[in-house]
Amino acid sequence: MTDLTSLGVKDIRDGVAKGDFTAREVAESFNAAVAEAAALNAFIVTTPDHALAAADKVDADRAAGKQLGKMAGVPIGMKDLFATHGVQTTAASHILEGFAPRYESTVSQNLWNAGAGMLGKLNLDQFAMGSSNETSYFGNVSSPWRKAGSNAAMSPGGSSGGSSAAVAARIAPAATGTDTGGSIRQPAAFTGICGIKPTYGRCSRWGVVAFASSLDQAGPMARSVEDCAIMLGAMAGFDPKDATSLDMPVPDWEAALNSDLRGKKVGIPREYRMEGTDQAILDSWEQGKAWLKDAGAEIVDVSLPHTKYALPAYYIVAPAEASSNLARYDGVRYGLRDLPDGVGLQDMYAATRAAGFGDEVKRRILIGTYVLSAGFYDAYYTQAQKVRALVARDFERAFQECDVILAPTTPTASFPLGSMNEDPLTMYLNDVFAVPASLAGLPAMSVPATINADGLPLGLQIVGRPFDEQGVLNAGLAIQQRAGFTARPEKWW
Ligand code: GLN
Repeated sequence: MTDLTSLGVKDIRDGVAKGDFTAREVAESFNAAVAEAAALNAFIVTTPDHALAAADKVDADRAAGKQLGKMAGVPIGMKDLFATHGVQTTAASHILEGFAPRYESTVSQNLWNAGAGMLGKLNLDQFAMGSSNETSYFGNVSSPWRKAGSNAAMSPGGSSGGSSAAVAARIAPAATGTDTGGSIRQPAAFTGICGIKPTYGRCSRWGVVAFASSLDQAGPMARSVEDCAIMLGAMAGFDPKDATSLDMPVPDWEAALNSDLRGKKVGIPREYRMEGTDQAILDSWEQGKAWLKDAGAEIVDVSLPHTKYALPAYYIVAPAEASSNLARYDGVRYGLRDLPDGVGLQDMYAATRAAGFGDEVKRRILIGTYVLSAGFYDAYYTQAQKVRALVARDFERAFQECDVILAPTTPTASFPLGSMNEDPLTMYLNDVFAVPASLAGLPAMSVPATINADGLPLGLQIVGRPFDEQGVLNAGLAIQQRAGFTARPEKWW
């Protein structure tokens, strides 16, 4: 029999529906693969019983001739930023250790309703702040990839690094991610998988631990464009419990997938030719243009003049919102409480927050508090909001001349864990190509393009108009078909 863990979402769903194998067999295979892969540290907790119970329900429904859901029989990894009923939800922070929500996030509930099951809660950068998965209280995640000829542990990207590592290592066919400033796309690029951040508002934020609410968006991470289309269809939808949820029908993205790009224009933003970008990434960008041309698209130059201001604006807006969102972790309502003998309420807050938050989280809270403080508010926060509007306007203008934009996902390939920690700014620079689409709320995807000379994956990014996930997925499919990316990490774990 085929190794079930080599299958993706579509093949599992279709195989279960046809009766080639049972959902229980699939869940058992992945549970075993997860149990074997502790060295990756991709999961904070595993939930094999959840996966088995969901699988048994699907097998019973099938036997009873009931209609099966979009994700029936597919066990997935859940980023530990989504509240899961009765299952510890930490955002990879000590401050939430032991917190078991009494409710389920809308996105995870939608996935269970579609017939998916949960293999466990995936590790991430603490509160989704980071680009390398080195800020988790529960330890670094190792990428399953290694540089040719080296045993150094590599970064799976961040913040959805448990998700990317698990999917690339084939211990999960797919996983949820969240993207505030690149956290789906950058880890996908680092690990040779696909990931799409939909238009802001497509997926409900209800029950997702908040980082920067005006930017946070959930999305799927999987090994093919088709699998992303299927899973996004199951995750998305209007939710009255999220005030910024889009009240729009969810199209059948899977059914409308079409890689024929004749009549479409692909924009190449000239400001994305940045210093410090690896030559291999620039080469793969050229290759990407040729692939999309081959799919029938016309390639046009576009300009996004405010690109260089997007990253600094993001690193003001996101911390500002984070400092406000994280005020709720006070030692009273959730998780950790540090109550040294004889101290009062204020000291308890301070002690809990000092012990509970990691350094990167504290850094963001300090920056955020500073840029929102009286006297500095206009100079930083208001200014950053203006830049954000200009970045969004750049895209609006560009999309008058093209249908989708093609760019690199990241300026470099993955790097060894521990190699980028000297100065937080070097890490922040890794988000340079991902952040503009986040500020503008646009759908954006990373698709694996090639392997560099070190044997590490490189991704290409497609950004679309608001609500045009289909255009993004279709261009992604055209790249996937031409890239023929079949490389997979050698198993060492
Ligand atoms: N790496 C970025 C940051 O640290 C983006 C994180 C994210 O998208 N959650 O803020």
